[in-house]
Amino acid sequence: MPKTEARYYESVDKGRVRCRLCPQHCMINPARSGICRVRTNEAGKLYTHIYGEVAALALDPLEKKPLYHFYPGRQILSVGTWGCNFSCAFCQNYRLAHEQAETRVILPEQLAELAVRARDQDSVGIAFTYNEPSIWFEYVLDTARLLKSRGLKTVLVTNGFIDPEPLNELLPFIDAANIDIKAFSQDFYKRNCKGRLQEVKDNIAFMAGKIHVELTHLLIPGENDDPGETEAMAAWISSLDSLIPLHLSRYFPAYQMERPATEFSAMLQAQKICRQHLHYVYLGNLPGVINDTACLECGQVLIARNVYNVKVTGIKDGCCIHCGARTNHIIGC
Ligand code: SF4
Repeated sequence: MPKTEARYYESVDKGRVRCRLCPQHCMINPARSGICRVRTNEAGKLYTHIYGEVAALALDPLEKKPLYHFYPGRQILSVGTWGCNFSCAFCQNYRLAHEQAETRVILPEQLAELAVRARDQDSVGIAFTYNEPSIWFEYVLDTARLLKSRGLKTVLVTNGFIDPEPLNELLPFIDAANIDIKAFSQDFYKRNCKGRLQEVKDNIAFMAGKIHVELTHLLIPGENDDPGETEAMAAWISSLDSLIPLHLSRYFPAYQMERPATEFSAMLQAQKICRQHLHYVYLGNLPGVINDTACLECGQVLIARNVYNVKVTGIKDGCCIHCGARTNHIIGC
């Protein structure tokens, strides 16, 4: 694929450029790349090397993103490339994030066409996932525009670390996002991810006011599982909207982090704490737990889940079939 000039950068001096796509704001010398490794300064112009370069493509359940309140039980064509603007020591997808994966070119028109055909397999659209979609901005935007014009949905699975201006440009074409909140401590973000919490919080607040948002929090023993921090995080999410689903995900050793996997009891304790503030707190990477969605009014099951076996048993025409309460917070059923 020919290189594509990047959006959101400025020329500085001596042939250097500053990228303004994400809050890393990399100052990039000629012939060098930014932290994400996919945007390179060539003779004073910034180019993206991943436009149309697809490293992974699969039809997944929406629950795998995870999105539990967005077209539950349906599928979504999921696509990713390589590179990341964070450097998380515990990265659960490091082959795509931190190594240069093999790719094949799929242009936006071609991807939109694949998404149209995937409707026959119960797919609602495209999820940009597997690696960080913010750094794929130009391709994601072009494709999301096409998907909108064809009545399909676009989903981001993201770390939420993108500058306000590009986010504002992208968001009208995005229907839902799962945003990773890696910890509720700036120290954790700095130490483990080389990122910052404040910009992620700002973007979560902004996006939750405009599109359907669910959050994921990977609980890592001894790193981000302090009960006070967990409660502060849940209280803050609740201050935005107590209906935002929170997915507490069990950590397993990966990439550069060797701490043992999160104890089952720690997952349950964190869920209990978060439930003091939030209506929907689900447990991920933990087969065997009940992750059903209940009606807020009568407590009856609306959506029954057994891992990716999902049945919408209690919703009809946007209402609970048991008590008639509206279920507007669950999209697509
Ligand atoms: S998108 Fe990449 S090059 Fe641009 S600021 Fe972020 S990490 Fe740096």
